[in-house]
Amino acid sequence: MRRITTVVIGAGHAGLAMSRCLSERGIDHVVFERGEVANSWRTERWDSLRLLTPNWQSRLPGFGYAGDDPDGFRTMPEVIAFIDRYAQTIAAPVQTHTRVISVHPTDAGYLVRTDRGEWHCRTLVIATGACNIPCVPRLAEAVPASVRTLTPMEYRNPDQLEHGGVLVVGASATGVQLADEIHRSGRPVTLAVGEHIRAPRTYRGRDIQWWMDAAGVLDQRYDEVDDIVRARKVPSLQLVGSPVRAMLDLNALTGIGVRLVGRLAGITDGRVLFSGSLSNQCALSDLKMGRLLDTIDRWATDYGLDDAVAPPHRFAPTRVGESPPLSLDLSRGEIRTIVWATGYRPDYSWLDAPVLDRKGEIRHDGGVVASPGMYLMGMQFLRRRKSALIDGAGADARDLSDHLVSYLHGRVTQDVA
Ligand SMILES: Cc1cc2nc3c(=O)[nH]c(=O)nc-3n(C[C@H](O)[C@H](O)[C@H](O)COP(=O)(O)OP(=O)(O)OC[C@H]3O[C@@H](n4cnc5c(N)ncnc54)[C@H](O)[C@@H]3O)c2cc1C
Repeated sequence: MRRITTVVIGAGHAGLAMSRCLSERGIDHVVFERGEVANSWRTERWDSLRLLTPNWQSRLPGFGYAGDDPDGFRTMPEVIAFIDRYAQTIAAPVQTHTRVISVHPTDAGYLVRTDRGEWHCRTLVIATGACNIPCVPRLAEAVPASVRTLTPMEYRNPDQLEHGGVLVVGASATGVQLADEIHRSGRPVTLAVGEHIRAPRTYRGRDIQWWMDAAGVLDQRYDEVDDIVRARKVPSLQLVGSPVRAMLDLNALTGIGVRLVGRLAGITDGRVLFSGSLSNQCALSDLKMGRLLDTIDRWATDYGLDDAVAPPHRFAPTRVGESPPLSLDLSRGEIRTIVWATGYRPDYSWLDAPVLDRKGEIRHDGGVVASPGMYLMGMQFLRRRKSALIDGAGADARDLSDHLVSYLHGRVTQDVA
């Protein structure tokens, strides 16, 4: 068995940002990666995907964007190249094709079993990603065999799909992007819409991410929000990173002919049932977008920017049909495919430590896990609103690596409820 101070699991950007911070602090460590560096971007994303965050907004410790298109949006090959370059630049001690198959606490740290040998470490950083498994609702089991179902991790492009109608379930970033692409391929899309966050791509002449970054919205800390459990569940913004900087809200989708229905509520006897809450969900989303724009406008005024940027304006409300259908008969052949754009969850099946709550999520306080010397990275609102974004990993890695060093020196304990 080999011994090392720290094991980092996962060589996505989060594990690499942590690796860089550990190196800066002189902590010997190894990063285990089951595939190649940036494995999730290589193997789990669809062909046309671009980041929805602009190029300038992928700042990692000691690394940033150096090209001539800071406001552009990276394609998948560009994201992979970027993260690969980062790993090389910081000389991260990554062992690729090394899968962690179990982690057990010991008296002095953790026993980490990989498919290429055993290691013992005093401290452990879990950076295996928030999006390992697509969340598919249990009612999917009732979909008739005549209808094909797939998740965004299986979807690559519309050519994979049969001709005919497609029901996309979920209207956050993934759902609206897939609905748009599939509908434009000539397969009529019905989009089941639950809670969602509407956002303009640009506002007052600047990208919405620029505003949220500048106004401090993305820096909001986990211990500053009233309900962090709820904040960690908030869906992704309805955004797409396209060269034309298009807004991809529900109005854009109905504009090209996508049909909106309410949240998918059940499937019985081959019929899909939709909730009657569509108008309410859209009204709520419009309201929340208005609040975000109010925050931005206030900040612009406070910082004397009003004369430097376009004047404030508001967007037309989301258009919802008079009486959207409340059910669809799947046996009629109108819907040939269902795409579950219903979110993702992490996979901790390899983690054999008493740190999971009833929902299977790791108990932690801003990434400090309820087990001595164990840390978590890359989760939604881990320490800041931006924690799950590439741009959020740096600040979290600095905070948590500081904590890790203090732990090694016996200066802090880990008491997490
Ligand atoms: C569809 C989609 C679009 C996104 N778009 C954006 C965007 O535009 N901008 C942005 O900033 N963020 C975006 N994100 C969010 C975020 O950047 C990604 O989720 C990102 O991949 C998370 O980085 P990570 O390093 O935490 O996890 P990952 O990139 O998932 O890295 C985790 C790594 O751990 C490895 N691993 C897992 N289990 C094991 C194991 N047992 N042993 C060894 N290795 C293991 C995996 O192979 C993987 O390489 C998007 C996410 C998704 C799903």
